[in-house]
Amino acid sequence: MTPDKRYRPIDAMVYPRFSGIRTFMRLPYVTDLTGVDFAVVGVPFDTGGTFRVGARFGPEGIRSQSTLLRPYNPALKVPIFDICSGVDYGDLPVIPGYLPESHKQITEGAAAVFASGATPVFLGGDHSVSLPLLRAAAGKHGPVALIHFDSHSDLWPAYFGGKDTHGTPFRRAYEEGLLDTARSSQIGLRGSLYDESDALMTTEVGMQLITGPELHEIGVKETIRRVKERVGDGPAYVTFDIDFVDPAYAPATGTPEVGGFTSAQCLQLVRGLAGLNLIGFDLVEVMPPYDPQGNVTCLLAANLVYEFISLIALSRKNKT
Ligand code: MN
Ligand code: MN
Repeated sequence: MTPDKRYRPIDAMVYPRFSGIRTFMRLPYVTDLTGVDFAVVGVPFDTGGTFRVGARFGPEGIRSQSTLLRPYNPALKVPIFDICSGVDYGDLPVIPGYLPESHKQITEGAAAVFASGATPVFLGGDHSVSLPLLRAAAGKHGPVALIHFDSHSDLWPAYFGGKDTHGTPFRRAYEEGLLDTARSSQIGLRGSLYDESDALMTTEVGMQLITGPELHEIGVKETIRRVKERVGDGPAYVTFDIDFVDPAYAPATGTPEVGGFTSAQCLQLVRGLAGLNLIGFDLVEVMPPYDPQGNVTCLLAANLVYEFISLIALSRKNKT
């Protein structure tokens, strides 16, 4: 990459943080990914929702709350933009109300990002978008390890007879061979279920299960150890459903479940993934219309995306 092609946020010591156009972290909006290390990509689609909807406003809400993020991450000791050239790629095209058509567009759009060599960070959208995103990821990398933070397994065979909703993406991904389940983990599952058999779905498809109560019991460090041990050196994709977080910290989501995790625990868990071969990220189910005064859910989501980006910078730093 030539130094003059380096993309970084607007200098907040020159232009105050409340000014300018709300891209993620006030990065330049760029769609030519030549020389780009990471791209933040919106996927504003919520036709897969089965209860509340509104995640179509997720990318916009997360971008709005990202304006205070600064370029040095002290927890990971990483000066992101000394290492990385990063952009906001805008949003992938979708057709509201038309799920199969939109999923096709999302796969094509995401495939172009993967093909460029930039590491994508996708802003959902409901969790159904992870299926087309994984199709694109597996198209480039082959079956990937899934690191899945969520209250729910999203492994149900169907909802209302429909095979594509935000409760089914990983069942489809498993059936399509997009996942290396032996290297995958689902973390944080909790809340009431339809049937005893629901609790077995994760292990039945071959993934490691660390339930919400178990995570509380064993703690963040041991959870990270188990997840990393399982992933190994191969490519891994991180999907983070904001309902993993306790609704006290992230109320603006589609299917909230109590007994979750704090903002601080979430940051620790994501940072703990440093050192893995992470090929892509998504953060889904953020619904700004349900966010109370203060936009706490979008603020946490923006900070989690910042940690994803920091991990990308860290891995590129260690490679050079
Ligand atoms: Mn969920
Ligand atoms: Mn989910």
